[in-house]
Amino acid sequence: MSRGTCTRRIGMTAVATVAVAAMAVPVGAQAATTSNTSPASTAATAAAAAAAAAAEDVDYATWQQDCRQVMNQAMPYVKQRIAATKPGEKQAIVFDIDNTTLETGFGLSYPSPANQPVLEVAEYAQEHGVDLFFVTARPGIIYLPTEYNLEHEGYEISGLYVRDLSDLFMDVAAYKTAQRADIESKGYTIIANIGNSATDLSGGHAEKTFKLPDYDGQLS
Ligand SMILES: [Mg+2]
Repeated sequence: MSRGTCTRRIGMTAVATVAVAAMAVPVGAQAATTSNTSPASTAATAAAAAAAAAAEDVDYATWQQDCRQVMNQAMPYVKQRIAATKPGEKQAIVFDIDNTTLETGFGLSYPSPANQPVLEVAEYAQEHGVDLFFVTARPGIIYLPTEYNLEHEGYEISGLYVRDLSDLFMDVAAYKTAQRADIESKGYTIIANIGNSATDLSGGHAEKTFKLPDYDGQLS
């Protein structure tokens, strides 16, 4: 399948990835799986269907273009910030995984390909002494395939945070914020936090955030 023409597919975050192959559902099909017919769920289903319809218009090339635009801001910042490293400072960058470092919303394959504009920033950083940390809502059960996938695509992992059972009950933004605080407690300065969902980026503990597109929550 040519990625240039493939239609966007959605995977719920945790799903992650079981992601790996089985659970991604075509955008249009997901709303249709709801069987609850309460007014609230009907409204939610209609809203989801509308959002999905909007998101279906986003093709791979557009998504890449949108990602490139954001990374065109990130790259010069990262270069400048690395050049201005303070004595004794240990720099880190924190990344989300799905639809940030890896392409998981477009087509299904394992290992998932790297999101190229983000990989370029990551490679520059790791080649210049910055440690890369990956904070994902993916569940712990897929730690190893996730680690393998990232390394396979060229990311050097200093830390990979997945959600343990107890974390699954925590708000995603709070969970991700807690991991950044943990990274800081190891003596790192987080110079940038890069993700595609608002929940990747809220809560502080980073000098700067870069928001890739999620198209109104349709891209996990
Ligand atoms: Mg994501």
